[in-house]
Amino acid sequence: MLCEICPRKCLVDREKTLGFCKASNHIKIAKFYLHQWEEPCISGENGSGTIFFSHCNLQCVYCQNYEISTGGKGLEITIQDLKNIFLYMQKQKATNINLVTPSHYILQIKEALKEAKKEGLTLPIVYNSSGYDSVEGLKVLDGLIDVYLVDMKYFNDQYAIRYSKANHYFEICKKAIQEMYRQTGPIQIKNGIMEKGVLVRHLLLPGLKEDSKKILSYLYHTYQDHIMISIMNQYTPTSSLKDMKELNRTITKKEYEEVLAYALSLGIEQAFVQEDETADESFIPDFSLESLKKDMDQIKDKI
Ligand code: SF4
Repeated sequence: MLCEICPRKCLVDREKTLGFCKASNHIKIAKFYLHQWEEPCISGENGSGTIFFSHCNLQCVYCQNYEISTGGKGLEITIQDLKNIFLYMQKQKATNINLVTPSHYILQIKEALKEAKKEGLTLPIVYNSSGYDSVEGLKVLDGLIDVYLVDMKYFNDQYAIRYSKANHYFEICKKAIQEMYRQTGPIQIKNGIMEKGVLVRHLLLPGLKEDSKKILSYLYHTYQDHIMISIMNQYTPTSSLKDMKELNRTITKKEYEEVLAYALSLGIEQAFVQEDETADESFIPDFSLESLKKDMDQIKDKI
């Protein structure tokens, strides 16, 4: 089967050749753990049962997880292993199952979720992506995903092409969010936990506050309060940005406050915002393969 599961439509047989994302048909993950630092309605008290998939169908020059996204660091696992991780997270009392960067493994995730649900998985399932998803790919998961936690990174394509090698990013992301919303409907929150709906994240980039405002305007005028929005200032420059001097700084307090004031002026009353000190490399998880191997061994005894 030739791969066209994401908008890049590489049409390669991933058993023999690698496409843009460099993922084969075999699932590779870099980490799974109870993540405490997502938005409170996602992490809950016990943490979100987060699985980081290796590889990515974007190549953001500023990616904080570049060793797993572009570098492909991780361990190959089977669909059965993935199902076991879901069930293990449930035993650990995770708030939900949080699939991070899943777009290139949609077909495999579908199989693992179906099996896990047959074996008693009842947690809400969160699909956590960069927003570069195709409607056809998302339809494969129709009925299996409860919460879409999705980035909307750029309004203007020139930035999407320069910083993420992504053509038509806004149009593609816009249609993806429409499909996500069609599947989940308006947000449903119970006891502070998001059980259904779409939460759109927007990360401010240095110098792009006008682009940010266009995104917020689009989202609010399209969905009003039926989706949640998270406006993030945690952008942290990485050492690989030598050729992109404009990205080589954090977001200023003034820039962030201007965008938040704009959000308020639109009428957005409920949005997640971040504190000043969130731009810090220490928030990047440790993707050690040794600890991942130990964690994989550990779940064998506990399922
Ligand atoms: S998932 Fe990977 S191989 Fe498939 S179309 Fe997307 S980028 Fe290409």
